[in-house]
Amino acid sequence: MTPERNHIAIVGAGLAGALLAILLARKGWRVDVYEKRGDPRVRGYAGGRSINLALAERGRHALQQAGAEAAVMAHAVMMRGRMVHFTDGSQQLQRYGRDDSEVIWSVHRGDLNITLLDLAERAGAAVHFDRRLDSIDFDARRARFVDDRDDSACEVTFRTLVGADGAGSALRAAMQRETDLGERVETLDHSYKELEIPPTPDGGFRIEPNALHIWPRGDYMCIALPNDERTFTVTLFMPNHGSPGFDTVRTPADARALFARDFADALPLIPDLEADWARNPAGTLATLYLDRWHLDDRAVLIGDAAHAMVPFHGQGMNCAFEDCVALADRLEAEASPAEAFAAFAAERRPNAAAIQHMALENYREMRDRVDDADYLLQRQLELELQQRHPDRFVPHYAMVSFMHIPYAVALERSNLQHDILERATRGIRDPADVDRAALDADVRRQLPPLQEGA
Ligand code: FAD
Repeated sequence: MTPERNHIAIVGAGLAGALLAILLARKGWRVDVYEKRGDPRVRGYAGGRSINLALAERGRHALQQAGAEAAVMAHAVMMRGRMVHFTDGSQQLQRYGRDDSEVIWSVHRGDLNITLLDLAERAGAAVHFDRRLDSIDFDARRARFVDDRDDSACEVTFRTLVGADGAGSALRAAMQRETDLGERVETLDHSYKELEIPPTPDGGFRIEPNALHIWPRGDYMCIALPNDERTFTVTLFMPNHGSPGFDTVRTPADARALFARDFADALPLIPDLEADWARNPAGTLATLYLDRWHLDDRAVLIGDAAHAMVPFHGQGMNCAFEDCVALADRLEAEASPAEAFAAFAAERRPNAAAIQHMALENYREMRDRVDDADYLLQRQLELELQQRHPDRFVPHYAMVSFMHIPYAVALERSNLQHDILERATRGIRDPADVDRAALDADVRRQLPPLQEGA
């Protein structure tokens, strides 16, 4: 039986797949979603990637379009800025924005996924769990799914497929066999390991809850994001090779020694460090680049399946959510899925490339720059310039995290602003010595007024 014109099959019911299902079902599409894992509401959330994530304005905006924002925000924890933990044990809160209207939010991945699945089903989407995409016959438009519990298989006829099946996408691999997608993967020579800070005995947070904590240590770092249930998820990012590196810090005892030396104030907060270290595998980090995201009208990729990125700007999910809104809009606006996919890819590919680039750059900033004097001077000037030229000078972090301007525009303007700040602070330590008149002229010359819809 050939599926009707407004039918769509989504592979993967993770963050992007579930959100897209809501958006399309609410627009009247008949949506089937196939997910390799079991239903997390029945068998518990299987995890796999980070336990929690930073949700920023782009993601919130997309959730709002899907009527999901209130349900998600009910369990989100506000993060005002980075709480930097220096080696001497002192701390400093570096605000992300101007006030509490410019903040990001920590959300629990499992809870978020379940909220979106509930809403997708309520909107009319059918979610089929324990259905791992195994193979596709694109000519016959038939997909084969396997239930990994008993190896049973079923075949489904599709009109068009959306690949929301994450960085290791099986749909992408199948498309790649049909046509060259121009795939390139750049693996970072750093990995990550997650640990937990439990609540205090009376059920409170052990450290400041409304911040993203960072212990920058040059080539490596720890971060900690708060969870609604009063825990923090700590993530150690470290090179795969070196001293320290995952090849030398191997055993739980090695990990304790590293923390005792370099993260001394964090160590007493993580009572199960050894057990966490032994239980949680080190996760790898990579950037995925593709020249093509779609195969005529038969398949298109979104989210990590199209553009996995390193997590250092906290934007992978936010970007994936923007993809969902863009794709749903294009499917409504264009005459055919083929035209919708082409328009979607043309709009989103340059933006994905921009945030992938900024995410890689931000790793250096987080682990190595946030405690530098010249960095702090430039941050101070950024905020000052934002006040003096609010329509022209918006700090890099604000453009990415608090606005919806295309990522590519944010990158282009960030580069210009970076050069302006470099010129203004060359050889200068004291903010009073900066030539404000020259700086203002530079801003006016280099930066046209910025509009939200740009
Ligand atoms: P996924 O969330 O990976 O979902 C893919 C889904 O497809 C899964 O449910 C999977 O089970 C299913 N699937 C896989 N293969 C198949 C198959 N063959 N058949 C059927 N189903 C399949 N982003 C942020 O915005 N903020 C952050 O703070 C942040 N922090 C991060 C920290 C870390 C350590 C990491 C690794 C990532 C982080 N990200 C963050 C990025 C974010 O996790 C991803 O961008 C996001 O999960 C992408 O969503 P997705 O739906 O495309 O893929």
